Amino acid sequence: MADYDDGNIFAKILRGEIPNDTVYENAHVLAFRDIAPQRPTHVLVIPKGAYTTWRDFAREGSPAEHAAFVQAVAEVVEKEGVAESGYRLIVNNGRDGHQDVPHVHMHIVGGASAGPMLKRQD
Ligand code: AMP
Repeated sequence: MADYDDGNIFAKILRGEIPNDTVYENAHVLAFRDIAPQRPTHVLVIPKGAYTTWRDFAREGSPAEHAAFVQAVAEVVEKEGVAESGYRLIVNNGRDGHQDVPHVHMHIVGGASAGPMLKRQD
């Protein structure tokens, strides 16, 4: 994939070079606990393919990868017991999105109120 940096930390996790706390896995997706959880449930869902942003995943990923990703999020929400209490799904992209790791990932946060959607910009 163009411009993908395969030295990023999630690429290393996918290659098994560094450990992760896996919550769910299927052929196209890995879900694991965030190393610095911001709520009692904080799981990251990533495609196994090399995609930097949501746009890259949307444009270059296959329908099977997209379906697997969407279903994986539901699996995690159910396994973590937050389907009824609620949760927030977050995907940060690029500079303005404050994306730190350049491998597309969805944060699932729950188990406590997520608070307002965005802080005000003063
Ligand atoms: P973002 O700012 O959306 O790119 O989020 C990156 C997330 O990755 C942060 O919430 C980090 O705490 C998390 N993170 C960084 N390194 C690891 C790691 N080795 N295992 C699990 N989560 C990580």
